[in-house]
Amino acid sequence: PPTNIDLKKYIRTIPNYPHEGILFYDISTLLRNADAWQIASARMAHGIAAWQPDLIAGIESRGFVSASPLATALGCGMIMIRKPGKLPGKTISIDYDLEYGQNCIHIQEDAIKPGQRVVIIDDLLATGGTLQAAIKLLRKTGANIIGAAALIELKNLKGREKIDVPLFSAITYN
Ligand code: IMP
Repeated sequence: PPTNIDLKKYIRTIPNYPHEGILFYDISTLLRNADAWQIASARMAHGIAAWQPDLIAGIESRGFVSASPLATALGCGMIMIRKPGKLPGKTISIDYDLEYGQNCIHIQEDAIKPGQRVVIIDDLLATGGTLQAAIKLLRKTGANIIGAAALIELKNLKGREKIDVPLFSAITYN
């Protein structure tokens, strides 16, 4: 596919979703386009390859979509960071605050062996609260979190300042 396409052209913005006053960046329109999606995931893979992860961890659910092609491209396993009640067997979890209310994420307690090199993936970094919680959760297993990546970073929300590992983003907005 062509490499010089402007990926922002494929991201739709929806005002007042899911709440009044929020501008929602919709990646559905990027995923639908074969060339745009291939280039976007290649850009992500290129951004994190040098970190040499053992495992890619995706955050439910658009984080899964973004993480899965990276695991395949880099020859890594993949683990799922999920909302409550979705993972079989024993899990460990963390609660964290959202702008409105609270959230909770889980992983299977045996998902990561101590010392494994893990990169965490989400579709979009806003305030950074979700990614920060995911890093804290994975560290409970003894994982070595070597980096994180997002398809989109909203720079003005300064989420990056909460993240204490190298962070790659493929598309940025100010
Ligand atoms: P944060 O915790 O404030 O960084 O928000 C990031 C999380 O919320 C990610 O899991 C995103 O999937 C989701 N999110 C926040 N804003 C948007 C958006 O505009 N488009 C898509 N997802 C969003």
